[in-house]
Amino acid sequence: MIETIGVIGGGQLGRMMALDAKRMGYYVVTLDPNPHSPCGQVSDEQIVAQYDDAGAVRQLGERTDVVTYEFENVSMDAVRGLERAGYAVSPSSDVLRITQNRILEKEFVRSCGIAVTSFAEVRNAADLRRAVQDVGFPAVLKTVVGGYDGKGQWIADDVDGADRAFAAGSMQPLIFERRVAFSKELGIICTRNARDHVVTYPVTENFHDRGILVRAVAPARIKPHIAAAAADIAKRIAANLRIVGTFCVEFFLTDSGDLLVNEIAPRPHNSGHYTIDATPCSQYEQHIRAICGLPLAAPRLLSEAIMMNILGQGTGDHLRGIAALLEDPAIVLHMYGKKHAVARRKMGHFTMLTDDLETSVARANDALALLSWN
Ligand code: AMP
Repeated sequence: MIETIGVIGGGQLGRMMALDAKRMGYYVVTLDPNPHSPCGQVSDEQIVAQYDDAGAVRQLGERTDVVTYEFENVSMDAVRGLERAGYAVSPSSDVLRITQNRILEKEFVRSCGIAVTSFAEVRNAADLRRAVQDVGFPAVLKTVVGGYDGKGQWIADDVDGADRAFAAGSMQPLIFERRVAFSKELGIICTRNARDHVVTYPVTENFHDRGILVRAVAPARIKPHIAAAAADIAKRIAANLRIVGTFCVEFFLTDSGDLLVNEIAPRPHNSGHYTIDATPCSQYEQHIRAICGLPLAAPRLLSEAIMMNILGQGTGDHLRGIAALLEDPAIVLHMYGKKHAVARRKMGHFTMLTDDLETSVARANDALALLSWN
């Protein structure tokens, strides 16, 4: 029986997992180098150590019944070590191995018969020439491992741009992707448990600014057959990956109505924050249920929702305008307890519950504009 949960990574996703786990009666231990991490603040204990500190990760395994993680760039060796020593880890290191590496991930998605944009691996100048020939422009070059929130990513419209991107990437392995002229970016949250029960949440429409998610709208304003196709793809990925836990699939929707998978995140996702306020069982609770061997709840959308990220501005650490924001009774505020509001850092979010998405997007933007940092 599972009574204690270990979380590698102390960010906001871990915090929201821990908050649901605590409500459900679990004892939570977090591992993160920051002693005041967002997840550590709401956990029972925190081990203050680097994510790749094998001894500390081992300690987390010893102190808990199951270990999970809240971001995919955790140490593969540390997670493998835990599994070899007989500790339970969900999702498994096999899932991590594939989703940590953009090339393996795209090859895996293709092997499931699901479309991705054309791509090539670039390790040296000869590969780069070949990619220019085979994949072509416009392109996006990304580090194969370790990138997030637009970091480790460069756009290129010609050979010079590709050369510059390769140099900017310090010659480390890159993926050269054909840039997709998408009409929308979509995401879907999916959870699978060890009994092979799989559930999917409504598709969201995701809006990014320079690689960072800024807004998610649920449900996406798309034709029902596209939403059904996205759910079908997520279920196929769940089954083939044999993942236990919550994950997110991000898509590009093209003008011609095709869905291309961009990414799989093997953990709850920023675009699924709306599930906390707009569904009875959030993506975080569903993750806890899955990793603890409990039944999953059928997702049910109680209200349409718009989720707005609150990013730091680099102008100060105190958030102004909360009282004005909360004049709107449809808004639920979530702050992550981070000390420094560094520019573009995810500091919090709010969810606006609505029955009229069309008019509410402008209202949500106006509400966000009430906030400032000083
Ligand atoms: P990623 O880190 O792969 O999720 O990329 C972050 C964001 O960059 C995506 O949400 C898109 O807005 C943009 N992007 C990444 N790859 C591509 C692509 N191949 N074509 C068009 N836009 C892309």
